[in-house]
Amino acid sequence: MVRRSLRSGKRKLIKTPSGKFYLTRIPDKPNYHHCATCGGKLHGMPRGTQIEIRRLHKSQRSPSRPYGGQLCSPCLKRQLIEKNRSLN
Ligand SMILES: [Zn+2]
Repeated sequence: MVRRSLRSGKRKLIKTPSGKFYLTRIPDKPNYHHCATCGGKLHGMPRGTQIEIRRLHKSQRSPSRPYGGQLCSPCLKRQLIEKNRSLN
């Protein structure tokens, strides 16, 4: 049996140019980003390792609105409306 740290993820058979097959491991992806208030999945946030995300363009890393990457859009809308009500 392989090491404990290598037991997660999928395994895939790869064929070499010489015709031999060997088993390789495809690691699990990190979990989705979640909204801070409702806990739902965040759209527009890439799912990958730190290195994979660093390789993306800055505009692809998180939504470019206030609280982008922390709150989902319905929660942000609700919060902004409540803040406006308290000001008036
Ligand atoms: Zn939310």
